[in-house]
Amino acid sequence: MIDFIIVGQGLAANVLAHTFHNHQLSFKVIGSPELSRSSLVAAGIWNPVVFKRLTSSWLAHQTIPLLNSFYSGCETKMNKAFLFNSPIIKPFIEEQEKRLWLQKSKNELDEFLGAVSADNTVLQGCNFSGEYGLVKQSGYIDTNTFLNETCVYYKENFIQEVFDYSLLKIERLGVKYKDVSAKNIIFCEGHLIKNNPFFNWVPMKPAKGEILTIESNGLQLNKCILNKGAFIMETRKNVFKTGATYEWDDLTEKPTQKAKKELSEKLEQLITSEYTVLKHEAGIRPSSIDRRPVIGRHPLYAHFFVFNGLGTKGVMLAPYFAENFVLFYLQKKHLNYEADVKRFYKLYKSE
Ligand SMILES: Cc1cc2nc3c(=O)[nH]c(=O)nc-3n(C[C@H](O)[C@H](O)[C@H](O)COP(=O)(O)OP(=O)(O)OC[C@H]3O[C@@H](n4cnc5c(N)ncnc54)[C@H](O)[C@@H]3O)c2cc1C
Repeated sequence: MIDFIIVGQGLAANVLAHTFHNHQLSFKVIGSPELSRSSLVAAGIWNPVVFKRLTSSWLAHQTIPLLNSFYSGCETKMNKAFLFNSPIIKPFIEEQEKRLWLQKSKNELDEFLGAVSADNTVLQGCNFSGEYGLVKQSGYIDTNTFLNETCVYYKENFIQEVFDYSLLKIERLGVKYKDVSAKNIIFCEGHLIKNNPFFNWVPMKPAKGEILTIESNGLQLNKCILNKGAFIMETRKNVFKTGATYEWDDLTEKPTQKAKKELSEKLEQLITSEYTVLKHEAGIRPSSIDRRPVIGRHPLYAHFFVFNGLGTKGVMLAPYFAENFVLFYLQKKHLNYEADVKRFYKLYKSE
């Protein structure tokens, strides 16, 4: 009997798989990667700073060191590169923004706010001049490479299929799904948690996002991510990702003309160089109603767990909360109370 069945095949499921392996917990992943494409289309950026309020991102001081050690450990293990440390360039619109940046970079945000610069030779083909701040300890994960390589590395542990909830049997010592017996099951279906009969009471507020991949020969970002109304970053030579949109009503995974227009208009404010669109993709971010992860044990079925609600920040949050979950499971440590599914128990109605 294995320790865990993991349902899903996005960032949550894959990060959990590595974390379980690191703690000698056995697992099988049962997932179909294309039912929900959020992890596949994500830009994969992590940013320790919230620009709107110029504060640090939630738990950044804890999540970022773990993010670096987790993904670089996976790189070594799988012998592939997908972790890229890249400063984020934040142009200043007003003098006051610069003043606040300088002030906070000497105090509470000294770890994350870097130098102010006016050196525009770093960038070519971009539509701004003037001063900007450089974010430290930021970067991106090539999520496609991470997911594909994980699936190859653990190929014996991956079953690629749609999970059929009606076939799950609850047994005295755990669960059984087809011929897989496990002590526990953990569900990581992203926004498709709404189809899960055991956890569909968890209140979600998913947000659709669309993103463009473009090619531009005249654009040079010098390994930086530019953020000005939208972000743009180079993923390979002359190929860039730019985005992203937010939409809460249309929750289909289809790219729309409306979002393409919005992204093209933003892009034209960001860059001056010619470009062609190579790809236009959409995905649904699995955000919870209070925008915190949703992790922990089912109120009635002791062997059932959930790992969801990664929202807009899956790259940064997943390694930290996977570790938090394993320590909760193995050593009875507390789950972070803001992320514990317990906060929604009152919404669960047992039959
Ligand atoms: C346009 C866009 C840009 C983004 N940019 C960033 C970014 O820069 N940085 C960042 O940190 N985050 C970003 N995100 C958010 C990020 O994608 C999510 O936080 C994260 O990927 C969520 O991972 P997940 O595994 O919880 O969900 P998902 O990626 O939705 O994965 C769920 C998985 O479960 C599978 N599944 C569901 N139901 C079943 C079933 N019944 N049977 C089998 N399999 C099933 C799905 O097919 C899928 O593989 C972005 C998202 C979008 C849409």
